[in-house]
Amino acid sequence: MPSQKIAILSVYDKTGLLDLAKGLIQNNVRLLASGGTAKLIREAGFDVEDVSAITNAPEMLSGRVKTLHPAVHAGILARDLASDEKDLADQNINKVDYVVCNLYPFKNTVAKVNVTIPEAVEEIDIGGVTLIRAAAKNHTRVTILSDPHDYPIFLQELEKGDIPAETRQRYALKAFEHTADYDAAIADFFRKQYAGNGVQQLSLRYGANPHQKPAAAFVRDGNLPFKVLGGSPGYINLLDCLNAWPLVKELKQALGLPAAASFKHVSPAGAAIGVPLTGTERKVYMVDDIDGIESSGLAQAYSRARGADRMSSFGDVIALSDTCDVPTAKIISREVSDGVIAPAYEPAALEILKKKKGGKYLVLQMDEAYEPPSQETRTVYGVTLTQGRNDVKISPTKTFNSVIRPKNSPKLSDSALRDLTIATIAVKYTQSNSVCYAFNGQVIGLGAGQQSRIHCTRLAGDKADNWWMRFHERTLSISWAKGIKRPEKSNAIDMLCSGQVPPQSEFETKDYERSFAEGSVPKPFTPEERREWLSKLSEVAVSSDAFFPFVDNVYRAARSGVKYIAAPTGSQNDGAVFDTAENLGITFIEQSTRLFHH
Ligand code: 5GP
Repeated sequence: MPSQKIAILSVYDKTGLLDLAKGLIQNNVRLLASGGTAKLIREAGFDVEDVSAITNAPEMLSGRVKTLHPAVHAGILARDLASDEKDLADQNINKVDYVVCNLYPFKNTVAKVNVTIPEAVEEIDIGGVTLIRAAAKNHTRVTILSDPHDYPIFLQELEKGDIPAETRQRYALKAFEHTADYDAAIADFFRKQYAGNGVQQLSLRYGANPHQKPAAAFVRDGNLPFKVLGGSPGYINLLDCLNAWPLVKELKQALGLPAAASFKHVSPAGAAIGVPLTGTERKVYMVDDIDGIESSGLAQAYSRARGADRMSSFGDVIALSDTCDVPTAKIISREVSDGVIAPAYEPAALEILKKKKGGKYLVLQMDEAYEPPSQETRTVYGVTLTQGRNDVKISPTKTFNSVIRPKNSPKLSDSALRDLTIATIAVKYTQSNSVCYAFNGQVIGLGAGQQSRIHCTRLAGDKADNWWMRFHERTLSISWAKGIKRPEKSNAIDMLCSGQVPPQSEFETKDYERSFAEGSVPKPFTPEERREWLSKLSEVAVSSDAFFPFVDNVYRAARSGVKYIAAPTGSQNDGAVFDTAENLGITFIEQSTRLFHH
């Protein structure tokens, strides 16, 4: 006759317990339970023994030790192996077949306001986790029930005979998730208590919006890869920093020059490397009075990154690939900006930055050697998404040498390869869809986050056009009203260059004209003037994060001096796209990696 099956029951949440006990007894299962669980079952009139019946040891330490005993755990963990059977027989231990357990309510306790550490500590379940893990580990033989919702189906299956392997597997998985979630809650609580703010975790004032609280950033392993040297980062600041930093790191690695990026809402407004600036560029980028800029590649890179689209860069988060020096800090100090991340700061540069925004300017120091894990995970609407990190390397020598059209194209020049690299690394860190125009070592137009690719291509192209119109003599020779601030200048320039000069209107025209010195409001550009000036822009490189579905993208790019396009292929219209590029004298490089980013 088969020996009587044994169940160990030890539950905090006693929902459904009595029905379960009844069902088990009806199926001739022997019940063993811990203190409170046994009491409830016994009071309901069912047969149940205390766990001490097999351990011969009382519950101890006010309940800290209840089921922790070899008689329990060997009974659960034993396999159907002769050696395990012998061990059990030697110790007079019976096999356990069913474990019913759920844990102390750690999450509920720590969710209470002003919970103390001793209160939380008492809610750390030890024996229960051990019961669950042991039973789940040995699920080829043992059934673990960690969720009261599973009791009814379990009883139905028990009625029919043995619990099927599939059911045991499902319950084991649930049990592992239960203990993992429990441990995560404990780690989360103690991280907040013991990790030290800014070391392994950082409390944030709020999330994307002020009502999204609480908010925090943390790593599970080791320390945060950055230190806060000034200010306190917000949630979006960190999103910007953690996208902008790898962008500049990769630009520097790919092209060997200092790099900078100016981010807004998790996409670059500009990104560049330290190509020396001409006098005109210094003027256009409003850095003509910065001492020491000629000898600072980093300051040149940031001037270009910030200068690409000064209007969009208003309130940016900056990433610098190299130690922030004084010329770079000086440029930053007088712009409206939210923060900067760099691997290091010269002491004098740090002093300048720490004075910004009344001492509230965000200054982060990034650990240059930090390598993120290869797998990244996030939750959206309660669902966890995980993916391998996009660690594809973009390199001027390897990324753009696969298929180049037309077939007889000359070898790409170093400057074309440089600009294609910049545009491609930029789209890798831009919210998709994205298309980027680059020229002379910098982004000049970037279209981000549009649902339609042609809208990205147009947006980026229009920005590139604006950028180029800023080099027109009329823009360069603007005389400004007294006391006008830098952002207001950038706004007025943007209106002039993008053809947004208001028609005669009572308020808007006056407001616009207020920016300029008395009697010297610049004439709007006529369509002919614009066309004529834009025709002088050439050698521009474009990169797209995915293929062009229609030829309209190529036509639009061509209107902004584009000579090189790198894009993945795979569209039904590839052939037409290649032909259009060829007709327009554009070299098309099949870039084999799609670079969506969200
Ligand atoms: P009961 O109400 O039966 O006295 O206790 C049930 C709870 O005790 C369950 O939540 C279970 O996870 C937990 N538990 C079981 N064994 C032990 C043990 O040895 N030590 C501790 N601290 N908790 C245990």
